[in-house]
Amino acid sequence: MARLPEVATYARRHPDGVWDLTVACPFCGDAHLHGGGRDAHPDLGLCVSHCLADGLVGSYVLIAGPADMAKPRSKSRAWRVARASR
Ligand SMILES: [Zn+2]
Repeated sequence: MARLPEVATYARRHPDGVWDLTVACPFCGDAHLHGGGRDAHPDLGLCVSHCLADGLVGSYVLIAGPADMAKPRSKSRAWRVARASR
């Protein structure tokens, strides 16, 4: 089985304690929003992408992004280029 891609995650906590996790999808390049639970730290790890392109695994692993990481934006070409060059 192919190793799943790891994606840096932008985590932001709502006032009600629920984590919003935003990632730039390694499959489609778009931003996907995932729920991160309401514990003290966001619930990262295995996640199913929201796009499921043909022939792709459709899953990735959420890892903590840098503290100063900018929130991925949908259809942001600059973001996709930055990710692809790492
Ligand atoms: Zn996607």
